[in-house]
Amino acid sequence: MKAHDALFIGGTWRAAAGSGSIEVVNPADEQVIGTVPAGDAQDVDAAVRAARDAFPGWAATPPAERAAHLAALRDQLAARADEIAETVTAELGAPPVLAQKVHAGLPIAVTGSYAELAATYAFEERIGNSTVLHEPVGVVGAITPWNYPLHQITAKVVPALAAGCTVVLKPAEDTPLVAQLFAEAVEAAGLPAGVFNLVTGLGPVAGQALAEHPGVDLVSFTGSTAVGRRIGAIAGGAVKRVALELGGKSANVILPSADLAKAVNVGVANVMTNSGQTCSAWTRMLVHTDQYDEAVALAAEAAAKYATPERMGPLVNGGQRERVRGYIARGVEEGARLVAGGAQTPEYAGTGYYVRPTVFADVTPEMAIAQEEIFGPVLSLIRYRDVDDAVRIANGTVYGLAGAVWAGDEAEAVAFARRLETGQVDINGGRFNPLAPFGGYKQSGIGRELGVHGLAEYLHTKSLQF
Ligand code: NAP
Ligand code: MG
Repeated sequence: MKAHDALFIGGTWRAAAGSGSIEVVNPADEQVIGTVPAGDAQDVDAAVRAARDAFPGWAATPPAERAAHLAALRDQLAARADEIAETVTAELGAPPVLAQKVHAGLPIAVTGSYAELAATYAFEERIGNSTVLHEPVGVVGAITPWNYPLHQITAKVVPALAAGCTVVLKPAEDTPLVAQLFAEAVEAAGLPAGVFNLVTGLGPVAGQALAEHPGVDLVSFTGSTAVGRRIGAIAGGAVKRVALELGGKSANVILPSADLAKAVNVGVANVMTNSGQTCSAWTRMLVHTDQYDEAVALAAEAAAKYATPERMGPLVNGGQRERVRGYIARGVEEGARLVAGGAQTPEYAGTGYYVRPTVFADVTPEMAIAQEEIFGPVLSLIRYRDVDDAVRIANGTVYGLAGAVWAGDEAEAVAFARRLETGQVDINGGRFNPLAPFGGYKQSGIGRELGVHGLAEYLHTKSLQF
């Protein structure tokens, strides 16, 4: 893997102020595959200055011209699709098919969507005797996690650029190589110097410095609830805009009229994809008590198919593996019944941070494995008595990011979905839509990403009265 021994600031690759570095590890074989600089507060300051200097020019660039730059960026990402996929396989451990389709494919689609939106968005509107201008917020500090490393970057950086903002990115320490590839694409696309800046580094050092920097007008963060709370508090103290995309414990509700086998199979696939490291994963499956035993058998059988390294990769690092194993042990202690997987190392994992695809039955709503985000390949099956009981259980966590409803009749599923406190609901297996707003109710976060709603996050309004 290629690793730059530099940060991308003001349109050039330059050495970090300090000598700290981060070793990037392949979680499938635990080998070091590259080293990147650990930027510090001085580097963050240099990057924020570069973004501030570039802001007036970029904000004044006509939206159609910004759109053309983003189309060029999309083309540069598309030209690197194979390299992106290989890099995500190497630093995250994603199986190659998933890496190509999702980790490379989705960011290219999202970047293309903003090339179109920037060209067509109404940056001015007329309301009565006012003209309302939608103006870029300013310099954006973006802090991203490792789970969908390039998607998380593009879902923040590209709408910010489309809006006319400039950006400093601090990517996750586990997956900095694909962030460097993104910076290469920005450079090759010929975006003006300073509109995008990359500071690799550690969360509590570079991430914290970025969140606290007075030259940053908006902080957009995706990651754990614990860090999100701190960033929200810092932004509140400084009265600056903040967007938080935090955890989830989403419910997959299978109503009695649904195609049970299909709902269970799609539901298990949803949880096992990306080794369970998906904030929107449907980690609780809610099944009517009359169909419960059949659903448990189907889920156990479906999960077993993921017990190969080709189908399901390792977790991102040893710490996450231990955290997930800890939750599996906790589920057993709490009295849930293991019907697939478990905390032992899988037999195919000589090295690598692998965890077995795991299914728990007899999970009750108050158990930790039914309440807390595990962020691993662990599914909890919970039984419900009637529709009201299902609504109560589905809404009974602090989270509200995603979910699913299955029913024989679409209208029945939609009626149920209206009662859910959550940002997205897939009806009878509806496909992911990269233009639909994505974000949380309750403690799953503040703000929305993707599509036109994601663009609006990076805009201020100014009303002119005539
Ligand atoms: P995390 O620490 O919240 O990491 C997210 C990002 O925030 C990373 O870039 C991280 O840098 C940075 N960061 C860490 N501490 C910071 C601070 N004090 N100030 C500013 N930025 C800071 O998440 P994690 O430790 O990687 O994962 C832990 C758990 O978070 C997971 O088990 C999962 O439950 C949840 N999670 C959720 C999502 C999601 O999509 N919502 C994604 C990933 C994880 P470093 O990389 O250097 O830590
Ligand atoms: Mg962390």
